[in-house]
Amino acid sequence: MVIGVLALQGAFSEHLDVLAKLNIETRKVKKPEHLEGLAGLIIPGGESTTLGRLMTKYELFDPIKDLVQRGRLALFGTCAGMIIAASEVVGYDQPRLGVIDIAVRRNAYGRQIDSFEADLEVPAIGGPPVRAVFIRAPYIEMVGPGVEVLAEHDGHPVMARTERVLVASFHPELTTDYRVHEYFVQQIAGK
Ligand code: GLN
Repeated sequence: MVIGVLALQGAFSEHLDVLAKLNIETRKVKKPEHLEGLAGLIIPGGESTTLGRLMTKYELFDPIKDLVQRGRLALFGTCAGMIIAASEVVGYDQPRLGVIDIAVRRNAYGRQIDSFEADLEVPAIGGPPVRAVFIRAPYIEMVGPGVEVLAEHDGHPVMARTERVLVASFHPELTTDYRVHEYFVQQIAGK
């Protein structure tokens, strides 16, 4: 199984490191041809408008969307990656994949707490809470039918999934707890 990490902008090298620690073969994705044969793709945190601009420039939106919709590629979007995956970005008309029926609010926690950490109960993962690092994070304002909420913080969903798409508001690649990545890998392997 090879998992790609979109390597245009943002925290991609940390995701590659975590996957390597889990003994997963990885590939940096910068162009459409790098998607060939991948079982999964992680879209990292960063800045979603910049990420969207670069994905448009390198013509990555259509092939990724097509592979996900045909059930050929599992997607994991973290933070800005969650914004890119969403069907709606509240107040912004920015390029996105629209592969998971959620409305997300950017920079949802405001300036005064623009970065913070929290312990999240994630029943689907089990065990001790997941330590989540939020950096100018979005949260999920609306989930459509067929989207399962996996974790909430302060009454807002911050982690959710469908059969092929996993999203998280936070940065699981910035801690040494690899359970969220393991969960993504297990979701792919179970298919
Ligand atoms: N605030 C960023 C955005 O709106 C996301 C921040 C992040 O990915 N850590 O795109």
